[in-house]
Amino acid sequence: MSARRGVTILGSTGSIGCNTVELIEARPDLYRVEALVANSRVDILADQARRLKPRLAVVADETAYSALKEALAGTGIEVAAGAAAVVDAAELPADWVMASIVGAAGLAPTLAAVRRGAVVGLANKECLVCAGQLMMAEVEKHGATLLPVDSEHSAIFQVFDFDQHDRIEKIILTASGGPFRTKSREFMADVTPEQAVAHPNWSMGAKISVDSASMFNKGLELIEAHHLFDMPEDKIDIVVHPQSVIHSLVSYVDGSVLAQLGSPDMRTPIAYALGWPKRIDAPVPRLDLAAIGTFTFEAPDEIRFPSLRLARAALRAGGSAAAVLNAANEMAVAAFLGRRIGFLDIAQVVERTLEGVEHCELGSIDDVLVQDQRARAFAAAIIDRQVR
Ligand code: NAD
Ligand code: MG
Repeated sequence: MSARRGVTILGSTGSIGCNTVELIEARPDLYRVEALVANSRVDILADQARRLKPRLAVVADETAYSALKEALAGTGIEVAAGAAAVVDAAELPADWVMASIVGAAGLAPTLAAVRRGAVVGLANKECLVCAGQLMMAEVEKHGATLLPVDSEHSAIFQVFDFDQHDRIEKIILTASGGPFRTKSREFMADVTPEQAVAHPNWSMGAKISVDSASMFNKGLELIEAHHLFDMPEDKIDIVVHPQSVIHSLVSYVDGSVLAQLGSPDMRTPIAYALGWPKRIDAPVPRLDLAAIGTFTFEAPDEIRFPSLRLARAALRAGGSAAAVLNAANEMAVAAFLGRRIGFLDIAQVVERTLEGVEHCELGSIDDVLVQDQRARAFAAAIIDRQVR
């Protein structure tokens, strides 16, 4: 019998997905691949599938089905397409699932993995932002394990004493500040998608790169941290740390502050989740503290980055507010990347959608999806007016 851990990667062609594939390929003695899932990049997906030989390869985009089928002809790898097939892939009996689809599109498949009690490496923060309470209840109910892959949450997870939750005063999320950390609103008004995705420290997918530039990423991470660690909004601080070496901190009642450090390289938090509860090797640059020399810290600026204020308000409001914030942000980021709106319009679209979409409680995942669609339609109308 094989003692190797069966792994499924949801979003295998993305930035997190490719790093996960790299780590898995390095340890064929530890891992075998059950399923690989992507949106539409057949070239990368087929190449990964030929190398890793999963049971199943899935593209969400149905128009890409025949290309994938052709690319994997004769390999014996099953091929499927469409949103339902993505969920089916998550339901295959893999021991460990990497949830690295970007956006609310990751909600249904991540939930499917949770509902069969899997160990889930969670990169997809949007699913906790839009359905955190429901998702955590499902994790509890089905005995699933969520291992945060977001670097800040992985850091907190590594130094958070879950047995002494009441002895924790605060968690402190670090933020790089992104490419516009020192820039004025006037400057940001005219930036291009190319400038926004050029992150100073991290190499990531386009959506999260824009989120880092607007600091919506930190806002989403605030909400993510609230759900993962059961901490109220006023016990989650954000500090800007441009070197991105301290990945986050936990502050205890005796004045101790514990942190996790490392090079800004996602292979470390991915390896932590992949190996958990043991540690596995990751080929990342080692920290050279003397070469780095100085760590600096700044308070975040909510005037230049209104995203932080909006995320805190959405978390305090509860109910559907965070789902609306997330959906509006996804729409606005896509419009910005498509050069339909300006960079500063992103936060405006989000704020106006939060004001305009009626607030409600979320009793089920269907409620989340309904509210997500309402917010997308509302945001789309604002964007259309902006463009005209
Ligand atoms: P990416 O854009 O590089 O990759 C996204 C992946 O999702 C791709 O494989 C794409 O094919 C797949 N995908 C998109 N829509 C899909 C759909 N409808 N159905 C199935 N698959 C779909 O994004 P990324 O940077 O790898 O980020 C992925 C997630 O991880 C995001 O939620 C992001 O916030 C989070 N995250 C990323 C990083 C990072 O360093 N990249 C760090 C922390 C958290
Ligand atoms: Mg992060």
